[in-house]
This record gives sequence, C-alpha cells and structure tokens, in this order.
Amino acid sequence: MILVINAGSSSIKTELFAQDRVSGDLSSIVEVRVSGIGGNSELKVAGVAKPVAASDHAAALGLILAELKVLGHGTDQLTAAAHRIVHGGTKLTQPVRVTPATIAEIEDCIPLAPLHNPNNLAAIHALSALVPDLPQYASFGTAFHASNPEVATTYAIPADARSKGMRRYGFHGFSYASMVRSLDPVPSRLLAFHLGNGASACAILEGKSVATTMGYSPVSGLTMGTRSGGLDAMAAIDLVEWYGVDEATRQLNRDSGLKALAGTNDMRRLLARSDDEARFAVDHFCYWCIRHGGSLIAALGGLDAVAFTGGIGENAEAIRNRIADGLKFAGPFDTLVVTADEERQIALDACAVMAAEARAT
Ligand code: ADP
Repeated sequence: MILVINAGSSSIKTELFAQDRVSGDLSSIVEVRVSGIGGNSELKVAGVAKPVAASDHAAALGLILAELKVLGHGTDQLTAAAHRIVHGGTKLTQPVRVTPATIAEIEDCIPLAPLHNPNNLAAIHALSALVPDLPQYASFGTAFHASNPEVATTYAIPADARSKGMRRYGFHGFSYASMVRSLDPVPSRLLAFHLGNGASACAILEGKSVATTMGYSPVSGLTMGTRSGGLDAMAAIDLVEWYGVDEATRQLNRDSGLKALAGTNDMRRLLARSDDEARFAVDHFCYWCIRHGGSLIAALGGLDAVAFTGGIGENAEAIRNRIADGLKFAGPFDTLVVTADEERQIALDACAVMAAEARAT
C-alpha cells in the first residue's frame, strides 16, 4: 500500500492506494485529510468531517495515521509514502527516493517556492519521525516540463539573475503526466488545458512537454480564478512600488483573475450569471486560453488534439466549446476530456522508482 501525501500551508491531504501484486494496478482505498492546521482543524474521511486538534503538520499527520489505523490500515501495511512536491527546480526532474541528499535538494528549491516546499518538507520530516522505517518518495510538479527546450525556458535577462534560477519552470505537471498516461494512443501534437482554480496550458509533442504557459511562478499565462495570468514585468514592479511586496504578491495571487473582474473565482457561478461583469470575465478567460493555445500550437507545429482537464475543463462544456471554436484556424482536431488523477500519478511514480530499486539490487 502506498500513501500519497499532499501537504499544503494549512492542510494535509492523503490518499491510500493498494497495488495489485500481479497486474501492478493501483486501486484507491480511502482519502483522509486534515484542514485548518494551527487553527480550527478538522479531519475529513469519506466525506465526513470531525473537529480535531492539529497544531502543526506533525500533529496532523499523526491524526491521519491514527485514522487509517482505525480503518484497518496501520502503518505496518504501508510499503511507502509518496509526497507531492510543488517545485523541483532544475535538478529534481524525476521522481526520487527521499534521502538526506534529496532533502537537501528540495531545501535548495525553497527560494523558488517559498509558500509550498517548506510544507512538503515538514510532512517528510514528520513522517520520518512517526514511521522511521517507511521508505518515502517524492514527485515534482515542475518535472513534466523538464523536456522543454532551452529557448522556451530561458528569460532573456542578465546572466546573474539567470544563474539564480530565474527561468520558466511550468507547473501542473502531475495533471499533464496523468493525462498523457490515460490517453492511448497519445495524440502526436496535443494541446492540453488544465483549467481549475489555477489554470495553464501545455504543448505536448509525442507525449513530452515542449512549452507551457506558467513560468517562474504559477502566476503567468492564462487568466485564473484568483491569479492574474500574463502581466508585464514593469507593471509588477509598479504594483510593488504602490502597494509593497506583500500586498502586491497577495493581489497577483489571491485577488486577481476572475475574482478581480467579476467578484468571484467560481466559474460555475459566473456561467450562471447574465451581467456584463460576469460575461466579460468569462470572455477574458476564453480569449486568453485561445491566444495562448495559438502560441502553443505554433510550438507544436500544428495540432492533432485538444484535451481538457481540471474542474472547469472537465465540467464546463460551454467553455470547452468556445475554446475549441477559437482554435478552429488550426484545422480539424479531436477534442478530449480527461479526468485529472494527480494522486494516482504520484503513487505510480513511487512504484516506478521502487521497481527500479528492486531491479538494481
Ligand atoms: P483547484 O484548481 O482548486 O483544484 P478545480 O480543479 O476543482 O480547482 O476547479 C475549480 C473550478 O471549476 C471553479 O471555478 C468551479 O466553479 C469550476 N467548476 C466546477 N464544476 C463546474 C461546472 N459544472 N461548470 C462550470 N465550472 C465548474
């Protein structure tokens, strides 16, 4: 059994998978999450929530392991834990076994993802303390885009800033990797849209990412629920001058996008409204999906299929149709809808590393 762990700033989400010994297939057993860490915490299992006391990530993880034990899945049944890590920088481009060396590399990526990687590390350390003998693995949300060519990842800025790691990385890698895995055959030139609260698009050539809309951070690219999407660098500098670093950061990440244009980041509610603001926000969202989609089609040298995933991509047919309509200039293509299963992808990553370890010994 493999426990996939996704540690956020105030929550830890886990999903337990069982691997079939013969086929290697994974089946999802249960999801357990603790939210509100450090405040009004609650533990949710199988859709039922109950209040708990979780002052930090270690306490939350302890509660989750205790809950799993009550459900008949004690830690003695676990083969491994698999962590979802937001940022792997330039070095961590494959799933790995967690060792002191890989922990040091994840620490090196903290400046690139100061809001995310520390939570992931906290969960790794907490689990090491709770179950010292359990092998831990890590997958990286940036890794899928490691195949992008250098012209795509490089910002044309002075060498000193580039040497500090300022370049395009791209995100939503688990979602795109899971999409590629679920498509058989994988269309040769695939334009993939992950449209959730965060949103990005990715040019996937023969199963590999060659370009994506997010960059140094997840703020760039498409109009999102609460992130701005593309914004001139000098505009960002002015925001910092006007509002200060913290407030400007908050605005671009939490108060922009659909929320800034129409008061909510909830696409379902926007589609149900008929006022001008809501219409404009939806227009803006679709327009930038099409604009960036066109650029990614150029990176692919043409188009065979467009695939949608994420809460909007999977559920909002009207949005899918508008985007597909806007891309008609590219000629005939298939339109696909894929259910994102990022946790399963992370579990499969760990299985692949374990299989390689077993072959090596
Ligand atoms: P996150 O990125 O936080 O995981 P999701 O992938 O769940 O988010 O996507 C959330 C978005 O999906 C919200 O804007 C929500 O309104 C939208 N959404 C979910 N269901 C529908 C639906 N039936 N129609 C339109 N939008 C939907």
